[in-house]
Amino acid sequence: MSAAEQDQLPMIPAAKPIIGQEEREAVDRVMATGMVAQGPEVAAFESEFSAHLAGGLECVAVNSGTSGQHLGMLALGLGPGDEVIVPSFTFAATANSVAITGATPVFVDIDPETFCIDPGAIEAAITERTVGIQPVHLYGHPAEMDRIMELAQRRGLWVAEDAAQAHAATWKGQQVGTFGAFGMFSLYPTKNMTSGEGGMVSCRDAETARQVRLLRNQGMEVQYANEIAGFNNRMTDIHAAIGRVQLGKLDGWTAQRRENAARLDAGLAGIDGLATPVVREGAEHVYHQYTIRLLGAAGAERDRFATALREEHRVGCGVYYPTPVHRLPSFGLALELPVTEQIAAEVLSLPVHPSLSDDDLERIISAVRTVAGAGA
Ligand SMILES: *Cc1c(COP(=O)(O)O)cnc(C)c1O
Repeated sequence: MSAAEQDQLPMIPAAKPIIGQEEREAVDRVMATGMVAQGPEVAAFESEFSAHLAGGLECVAVNSGTSGQHLGMLALGLGPGDEVIVPSFTFAATANSVAITGATPVFVDIDPETFCIDPGAIEAAITERTVGIQPVHLYGHPAEMDRIMELAQRRGLWVAEDAAQAHAATWKGQQVGTFGAFGMFSLYPTKNMTSGEGGMVSCRDAETARQVRLLRNQGMEVQYANEIAGFNNRMTDIHAAIGRVQLGKLDGWTAQRRENAARLDAGLAGIDGLATPVVREGAEHVYHQYTIRLLGAAGAERDRFATALREEHRVGCGVYYPTPVHRLPSFGLALELPVTEQIAAEVLSLPVHPSLSDDDLERIISAVRTVAGAGA
């Protein structure tokens, strides 16, 4: 292909939120009522989300996934002196939600194949201050929840699930976000479904749900009868109306993500030094990301690979996440987590979103094969 032809190739974006006419009409419907703050749309969204994605557990909508995680932690009584075990290979919000309560996130290593917390590493990190575990269903692949729940029950710990990237993923037939004391789903635009910004907390028991509801709204259940000090982390009816439409489209999008992943798996099989995503037996992966590993790569080599995909082939891609959370300036820990550090240098996420065309998928496959030196 000539340079001129390449210049004309449209960029395939790494992620693409799909906002259609129905979402716009839903927003307009709310706007037309003149009542846009938290109201009936939020209540309807909570119960529909619960039925569809949370096994009927009580769901509480908030203004972001991070808020949901934070309020969930506070609802469980987390505070200074407590420790919560978390993976370091995740988005910073996982650890921030613990740290912001005054408690300490204790970072452990991951399984190199699923990129999720290593259940074997959790037990070794438990101290007399440990109160909970927060696994992350990273990229849409569920963490090993049966082993984690067994360990938590045996050691008297709670479990909070970071399901920000994993709407509709299941582990041994059970939906993620329904195993622990609470689960958090993000509704940020690039996630598998969106409300604009937003989050949903699925709560195992009525008291946790009540606490999250109180914390969301200044500690009030009854207007001006504040029971505790709380926040304003409410979702608006405008956002809930968008979320309700998106919830109705999620199954189709998830099926498309899986189909796209299967195409990429087939097209990228057998390339030396490149590993396609592993799906554990018992896992239903929802491919928030389709993440390959460049085996043994240093971060700089992986970054050159990413630059070649973007600049020479116009294939968008992303590195989630280049720096393990424990190494970020916000935590700055010298702790050695060898698997986490190796994986952070090797991973590269390719487009897998539901808007990809057949041509896009072919272009992604041939670009990766070319950059990897495997022939297009
Ligand atoms: C997106 C994300 C969050 C935070 O969700 P927001 O809605 O952006 O606040 C937390 N954890 C993980 C793993 C995420 O990907």
